[in-house]
Amino acid sequence: MPELNNAPARIIPRSEHDLSRQYIDENSLKVLYRLHRHGYKAYLVGGGVRDLLLGRTPKDFDIGTDATPEQVYKLFRNSRIVGRRFRLAHIIFGRNECIEVATFRRKPVEEEVPDDERFFCENVFGTPREDAFRRDFTINALFYSIDDFSIIDYTGGLEDLRRGIIRVIGDPVERFAEDPVRMLRALEFSARLGFELHEDIAPAIEQQAPLLAEASSARIREELLELFRHKVGGKVLQRADKLGLLQQLVPDMQAQRESFDLLRQLDLRTAIGVDIQESMVLATMYLTPFCQACSSDMPLGEVHKLANREIARHCRRFSIAAGIRHQAREMLITFFRLTRGRGRRGEQRFLRHPCVHDGLELFRLWCECSGEHQDLLQSWTNAIAGKEEQKPRPQRKPGPPRRRKKKTPPAPV
Ligand code: ATP
Ligand code: MG
Repeated sequence: MPELNNAPARIIPRSEHDLSRQYIDENSLKVLYRLHRHGYKAYLVGGGVRDLLLGRTPKDFDIGTDATPEQVYKLFRNSRIVGRRFRLAHIIFGRNECIEVATFRRKPVEEEVPDDERFFCENVFGTPREDAFRRDFTINALFYSIDDFSIIDYTGGLEDLRRGIIRVIGDPVERFAEDPVRMLRALEFSARLGFELHEDIAPAIEQQAPLLAEASSARIREELLELFRHKVGGKVLQRADKLGLLQQLVPDMQAQRESFDLLRQLDLRTAIGVDIQESMVLATMYLTPFCQACSSDMPLGEVHKLANREIARHCRRFSIAAGIRHQAREMLITFFRLTRGRGRRGEQRFLRHPCVHDGLELFRLWCECSGEHQDLLQSWTNAIAGKEEQKPRPQRKPGPPRRRKKKTPPAPV
């Protein structure tokens, strides 16, 4: 935990910044105002403030307050309290909007942590200043107050935002030891925002990388997917490799230039609006070693085993559901069948296989990266699209099975 410095916060009045309420989601504003009307502090915090100041669209709007989760719960009928270690209030709007309201917290002092940390819940509430200092990076610790629409900066985040720098709050070596996932987040924000890492971050990552291996696999899995949702998976994993973090993150992925190129290609595909599927990320990550292990005359049974083998350890480590694993494996097998070219026995049935589209996507990524097999790609694309265009066979009306009409023998002459 960084030393709390007591320098006064920098407060930027509304007239001196251009974060306008117009860009804040309507329901988040309702929550902020309601808390404020009831006498609580109500701040927009985290990525929402950062992104609005950068002129970007925030992914979500998080709210910080001095009301406890129970007080928030009492104030909003449409709320519930969630979380064990971090108790938060979720306020639900409509079918799928959920606004997270967190009480300002601080890092507990040693006496407050029981011997058995499993039973510890980190609900040690604190002041806004303490809350800012427990956050990860200066640019993520800015607050926007609904009281007077000012921006409150305790950690120098505004200056770092202006200069385009990712800076850890406090000593990076210590903060990464506290929570190793922050190392990955540093690389993620640097890639997403096009910001430089402060010079003390890379050496701290190199030093603390092994700690990531002990982090919760569920969190790593989620952060990994987050990288691909933000279209920076390829870039971040390549950088993680240079800093010795990739080995700890996905120990089974071999760091090869081809794999990173494929992942970057996947990010480009997401950038044009294609939804990211975990099975596709998985198949792309392990495509290069899979290709290296296969030979074109291999029987499909063998290919099936190889595809399974490539992804099995990753799936076990991250407890990936059987359905996703199955999809990833089928994509690899379909990819293999596509690379063998057209005109094989059973092609018509293959074209109707439910995984053929995903397999074709993987094949497309591979062709785009290597610049090879463009004709084959076109030919498969046409064949698969051709199948889609075919009209379904007309369905027979329900009723008893039709009998073949008996041919009447020709009348004897
Ligand atoms: P985005 O939602 O756009 O990915 P974000 O900055 O809002 O970015 P979240 O994961 O939503 O990221 O977290 C919200 C805020 O919580 C962060 O801005 C940061 O202040 C704080 N935070 C998140 N994770 C950590 C962490 N591991 N350590 C310290 N603070 C964190
Ligand atoms: Mg967020």
